[in-house]
Amino acid sequence: MEIIKLSTDILIIGGGTAGCQAAIHAKELNSDLDVTVLEKAGIKRSGCLAAGVNAINAYLTEGETPESYVDFVKKESHGLIREDLTLSIGQRLNLMSEKLESYGLVFLKDKKGNYVARGKRSVKINGENIKPIMAEKTQDSGARILNKIIATNYIVEDGRVSGAYAISLDLEKFYVIKAKAVICTTGGAAGIYKPNNPVEARHKMWYSPFNTGDGLAMGIRAGAEMTSFEMRFIALRTKDTISPTGTIAQGLKVGQINAKNEKYMVNYENKSTPMRLYATIVENLEGRGPCYLDTRGATEDQVEELKKAYLNMSPSIILKWNDEKIDISKEPVEICGSEPYIVGGHGQAGYWIDNSRKTTVDGLYAAGDVCGGSPKKYVTGCMAEAEIAVEAAIEYINSSENHKAVDEKTVAEEINRITAPLQNSDKLFSPQEIEEKLQKIMDEYAGGISQAYRVNEEKLLKAKRLLTYLDKDLCKVGASTPLEVLKYNEVINRILIAKALIEHLLYRKETRWKCYQERVDYPFLDNKNWFKFVNSVYEKDSDSIKIIEREVKKVI
Ligand SMILES: Cc1cc2nc3c(=O)[nH]c(=O)nc-3n(C[C@H](O)[C@H](O)[C@H](O)COP(=O)(O)OP(=O)(O)OC[C@H]3O[C@@H](n4cnc5c(N)ncnc54)[C@H](O)[C@@H]3O)c2cc1C
Repeated sequence: MEIIKLSTDILIIGGGTAGCQAAIHAKELNSDLDVTVLEKAGIKRSGCLAAGVNAINAYLTEGETPESYVDFVKKESHGLIREDLTLSIGQRLNLMSEKLESYGLVFLKDKKGNYVARGKRSVKINGENIKPIMAEKTQDSGARILNKIIATNYIVEDGRVSGAYAISLDLEKFYVIKAKAVICTTGGAAGIYKPNNPVEARHKMWYSPFNTGDGLAMGIRAGAEMTSFEMRFIALRTKDTISPTGTIAQGLKVGQINAKNEKYMVNYENKSTPMRLYATIVENLEGRGPCYLDTRGATEDQVEELKKAYLNMSPSIILKWNDEKIDISKEPVEICGSEPYIVGGHGQAGYWIDNSRKTTVDGLYAAGDVCGGSPKKYVTGCMAEAEIAVEAAIEYINSSENHKAVDEKTVAEEINRITAPLQNSDKLFSPQEIEEKLQKIMDEYAGGISQAYRVNEEKLLKAKRLLTYLDKDLCKVGASTPLEVLKYNEVINRILIAKALIEHLLYRKETRWKCYQERVDYPFLDNKNWFKFVNSVYEKDSDSIKIIEREVKKVI
C-alpha cells in the first residue's frame, strides 16, 4: 500500500451538499487558501442529492422570516431545538437558494419572476441535476477534490484534530492528510436498522445508503460531544419504492386515508410531519391498514405533473406504476414508514456544535446532516451551515500554528486497524453477516419497523447486551477483497453509533417525539423533567458512552 502525505489549510470531509458549498465558499472568501475535499464516492453524484430533488424545502416565501422559521421548527419538534443554530440557518436560507440559481439550478418562476412556492417554506425546482451543478461549481472553485477516497479517522494530537486518515477504494493508497482546520460534512447514518426491503433491494431506502455514519463514528472516537441521537428520523414514504409522499400530498393537495376510506388524520392531535407518520403506524396496528394517499380523481394533467416531479428525484415509482399498470387517478398510493436513521438535517441527531459550527474538539468544525440541534434544515440549511463553518474555520487557521508530522508508528496502527480482517484466515464472519446481525438487533430491541418504532427499558438493555457480543465478533471477521474491508469499516462505525444511540434512548425517560423516540414505559411528554438535550461523549479508557445533559437556551 502506497502512503501519501498531504497538507492543506482546510480539509473538508464529505463532498455532498454541505461539503461542496464549504469548498466553494472557502475559495470565494480567499482564493489563496489550500482547500481539499475528501469524498468516498464521486462528488458529481454523491450523498443525499445523488438522485436529485424537486424542491428546496427550506426557503422563506413572502411573509416568512428567520424567526417564523425558528417557530415552525420548534413546533414540529416539541419546542426542543437549538434556537441559535436554527436562527442562523434561517438568516441565510434565501441567499443559498439564490446562489444555487446562480450556479445554474432551474427554479420554477411565476409571471412576476418569483419562485413558485410549494407551501410556506418550500419552492419548486427542476432538481434532477442539482448535484452535478454543485459539483461543477466546486470543481471550478479551485479546491482540490479527492474522489473515491474514504476518511477512516481523524488525526488527533494533544486533544486537537489536525487532519484525517483516508484510504482509496481499491486499498492501493493510504492518505495522511494534515490540515490547519477540518470540517466534517459526511451526512447522517443509514443502515443501523433493518431496512424495509430485503436482500438485493436492501439499499432501496430513504437515506443515502452510502452515508454510513463514518464522520459521526470518527467524531465519537475522537471524543466529540454528540446530541439527540434518540431523536431518530423516520420518513413517511410510498410503499416499496420509498419515494417522497410530500410530492403527492402537496402536489395534488390530497390527504391520507385508511383501508376503510376514512381520512384518519382528523383523529390525531395535529398534522405535523411526525404525526402523519405516527397516525399511519397506529392505523395499521389497530387493523385499519393499509394506508394511502388518496390520489383518486386526479386529472390527467395533475398525474403528468406528478410524474415529471418524480422523474426529478425518484424515477422508480414511475417504473412501478408503468410495470404494474397502476392508474393513480383510480387507485390510491400506499404509504409506509422507513427504517430509522441518525440524521441532523431532517431530525436533530449529530455533533453538538456552537453557533460558529465548531464541535467540542479543537480544530474540528461540522455542517449539514452530520450536525445536531437544528432539524428541518434540508439542502439550503446544510449550505448555510457550511458557510458559517468555513468562516469560523478561516478565522481559526489564521490564529493556529502548523502541526508536526504524524509519526510512522501511529500511521501503521491506523492501517492495521482498518485492514485487520485481511489478516484473519479463519473468516468466521463476513462483514455483511455482522451488518445483518446489527440491523436485526436494532430492529427487534431498539425500536425498528417490526416494533412500530417503540422501545422500552428491558428491550433496550437487551440490545445493549447483544451489541457487546457483536463487538466481540468483530475480531472474527475475515475479508479477502477491498470491498469487504470497506464494508468491515462501515459496520464498525455503525456499531459504535448504535451503542451511543442505545444510551440516548435509555436515558430519555419520556416520550417526546412519537415514532422517532417513543418509550412505551414512559408514554407521556414530560416538559418538567425532560425539556433538555441528552448529549453523549465516548470515554476511551472505559470504552463506554457517558451521558451529559445540556439545557435549552432561548434566543428569540
Ligand atoms: C431522499 C432524500 C430526499 C430529500 N429531498 C429533499 C428535497 O426535496 N428538498 C430539500 O431541500 N432537501 C431534501 N433532502 C435533504 C437534503 O438533501 C439533505 O439534508 C442534504 O443534502 C444533506 O447534505 P449533507 O452535505 O449534510 O450530506 P450529503 O449531501 O449526503 O453529503 C455527505 C457526503 O459525505 C460523503 N461521505 C460519507 N462518508 C464519507 C467518508 N468516510 N469519507 C469521505 N466522504 C464521505 C458521502 O459520500 C456524501 O457525498 C432530502 C434528503 C433525502 C435523503
